[in-house]
Amino acid sequence: MTIETMMENISAVRAKVAEAAKRSGRGEEDVTVIGVSKFQPLDALYMALDCGITIFGENRVQEREQKAAAWTRERAEWHMIGHLQRNKARKAVELFDCIQSVDSLELALTLDRIVAEKASSGLKAGPFVIMIEVNTSGEGSKSGVSPEGCLALTEKIISECHNLLACGFMTVGPLAGESEARRSFALLRALAEEADARLGLKARHLSMGMSGDFEAAIEEGATAVRIGTGIFGARRSQDKL
Ligand SMILES: *Cc1c(COP(=O)(O)O)cnc(C)c1O
Repeated sequence: MTIETMMENISAVRAKVAEAAKRSGRGEEDVTVIGVSKFQPLDALYMALDCGITIFGENRVQEREQKAAAWTRERAEWHMIGHLQRNKARKAVELFDCIQSVDSLELALTLDRIVAEKASSGLKAGPFVIMIEVNTSGEGSKSGVSPEGCLALTEKIISECHNLLACGFMTVGPLAGESEARRSFALLRALAEEADARLGLKARHLSMGMSGDFEAAIEEGATAVRIGTGIFGARRSQDKL
């Protein structure tokens, strides 16, 4: 891809973001565009940086680690958006600025303990920012806490994980279609509002919407959208990175 093409992609995404934000009574500045760079080569990420993308989303610790080792450009912000196994939690804390995919108390407690250790040895100042991933579609293939379990998990994380800062919720919409996706996004927003009213969250970010459904997500209240193919084009296979 040329930088001109990527610039056009990003301008088109930003224009749609602005329109959808307006339809939801907000402004373009209320919605962050995260560039989902999984299975994209570093050159493409550098191009995205030059086009003004400053936050990248990756879904595997190992791929993030490879990119971190080879990175030569200015510091960017990195969000983990894929399922995180507990045995990779330490690396994830080292490699990411935010983990959007926290979906169990066990994982949260593990992260909390790691952040506490790092803070006490002066390696990383807490708290560490997380989001709680909710499986709003009920699809078995998707990770995330169930909508029914979301509030209890949030409450436990707030009361037990003092080194984590839960700043909102994340979901992946169903592939099924626009109206199903919209229902998923509306559910995430309702859960966030309930959590806020009952538990008093410090922030209420909603990370929802991808290339195919981000406009609906913004209309339903997304504050961050995760755009992969809509910015970078088709993903590579792993051996071509
Ligand atoms: C891959 C991925 C995206 C981006 O998907 P596109 O359809 O390429 O925009 C967003 N969120 C998550 C969790 C992903 O895994």
